[in-house]
Amino acid sequence: MALETDYLVIGSGIAGLNFALLAAEHGQVVVCTKKRPADTNTNWAQGGVAAVLAPDDSFEQHVSDTLAAGDGLCDRHVVELCVNDGPAEVERLLQLGVRLARDPSGALDLGREGAHSRHRVVHWEDVTGREIQRALLAAVSKHPNITLLDNHIAVDLLSMAKYGGDPACFGAYVLDSRSGEVKTICARATVLASGGTGKVYIYTSNPDVATGDGIAMAYRIGAACADLEFVQFHPTVLYHPHAGSFLISEALRGEGGVLRLANGETFMEHYHPMKSLASRDVVARAIDNELKKSGADAVFLDMTQLDATFVRQRFPNIYERCLGLGIDITKQPIPVVPAAHYMCGGVKTDDTGATTIRGLYAIGECAATGLHGANRLASNSLLEGMVFSSRAAAAVREAPRTRPEKVAPWSYGQATDSNDAIVVSLNWDEIRRFMWSYVGIVRSDKRLERARRRIEILRDEIREYYIDFKITSDLLELRNLALVAHLIIESARRRKESRGLHYTLDYPDKLPEARHSEIQLTDGPRG
Ligand SMILES: Cc1cc2nc3c(=O)[nH]c(=O)nc-3n(C[C@H](O)[C@H](O)[C@H](O)COP(=O)(O)OP(=O)(O)OC[C@H]3O[C@@H](n4cnc5c(N)ncnc54)[C@H](O)[C@@H]3O)c2cc1C
Repeated sequence: MALETDYLVIGSGIAGLNFALLAAEHGQVVVCTKKRPADTNTNWAQGGVAAVLAPDDSFEQHVSDTLAAGDGLCDRHVVELCVNDGPAEVERLLQLGVRLARDPSGALDLGREGAHSRHRVVHWEDVTGREIQRALLAAVSKHPNITLLDNHIAVDLLSMAKYGGDPACFGAYVLDSRSGEVKTICARATVLASGGTGKVYIYTSNPDVATGDGIAMAYRIGAACADLEFVQFHPTVLYHPHAGSFLISEALRGEGGVLRLANGETFMEHYHPMKSLASRDVVARAIDNELKKSGADAVFLDMTQLDATFVRQRFPNIYERCLGLGIDITKQPIPVVPAAHYMCGGVKTDDTGATTIRGLYAIGECAATGLHGANRLASNSLLEGMVFSSRAAAAVREAPRTRPEKVAPWSYGQATDSNDAIVVSLNWDEIRRFMWSYVGIVRSDKRLERARRRIEILRDEIREYYIDFKITSDLLELRNLALVAHLIIESARRRKESRGLHYTLDYPDKLPEARHSEIQLTDGPRG
């Protein structure tokens, strides 16, 4: 039996939950999330949400900083609407019970981050995302019209194309990871809020859930995807054997942290007039270059010149985490390296979150709305998550119900239990390593071609494995990860210039005209 709802949301981060809360005012909402509800990138965000709130700031300045970071590829209309909606979305967060830091006068405390010309980042200590996640989940749990299904991973989107219609989307097959049952969930509107793609790379600041599932599922039913070559590498992730993925927020440089080499020398002045406050891509490339030149494992972020009490109060989470690893950041510089952090491209949408497939919406990090262009300005992504989930929740109100009379249940076929799970982990590891080496911070035609050859072999293997064995969440993620890697490689191969986050040795200059890259399934469905 297919389950019916008005709105099916895939993902429980800022975009999915804010959408659910607003849409639940006019319909029934099912949110499925593949692990625990708080396993999201949102929960890991440190810095905060960018919005124009300071007397010396203006919408024009925030727009201009965003356009400058986006390197010619931002959609000005989308930038303006996000920036203009910023203060109202911050107000909404407060109304939802999100705590935000205040200065001694009681006004919201505004942090400054790289490439922002003003203080404009609202935050809660250095765990802003955790606070937003907490408040949104609390509100969702109280709402009678929202059903939250954890440990439910969306497998594939339901498309009318399978029933002889156009490829309109009417829901998804969803695997209950605990029971192994695949549920069919039909909806008037299906909303991808499935987050980013950081796990495509071996070094990433992202949690395990960031495997690009939404982008892969949308691509498989023919949705256009855009700008997938623009992967943001965060310049400063903690370098320590026991740290896992731990981000050292941009806000540390915003508050006066200085990058140094192991010998204590500064180096950013050789790369950009804004030195350590230059935009992320400039800083990440500079560090990558210094590490390649010297063969060192890491560079250092020095906070020791700042007041120790201020550092402890402003960055309690980072301070405690580093101290736990034997680094007192008020006395010692922090060893850091770059890592994959944010996907600027995604499923192409209009300014309401609608994709090129009727009935399918994409919001948050999995979407390419035109806000970020070729490079994201720090703290604009939580803002985008709020703005577009609000806009999509208003747009879906009128969505018509489209579905075939009889929906085919998931076919389990002849698949058997896998006795060879090592194949999944080995393929996973191989993809993430060559993506780092060949499709990382500095690219070239040769490196991209090597990556292309490898990903095609691996995708064939994964396809066979997918047909033969029962699906598990690990196998689904691997299948999606491999497809997203392929899409990133193809998008990068098509861009014959260096722009924003895409830097290639073979075309170091920018072309006179800035164009989005677009990629869409044209050769029949492949897994
Ligand atoms: C360490 C770190 C720090 C950051 N700091 C900031 C910051 O200070 N300011 C800022 O603006 N941005 C920051 N970002 C980026 C920002 O956190 C993300 O872009 C944003 O949270 C994305 O929100 P989202 O709702 O789109 O996705 P997420 O919060 O990532 O949520 C995605 C959800 O989708 C679920 N999901 C995925 N695939 C499936 C599937 N197949 N089936 C079911 N569920 C699925 C996941 O389990 C998860 O629940 C940071 C990111 C990281 C990693």
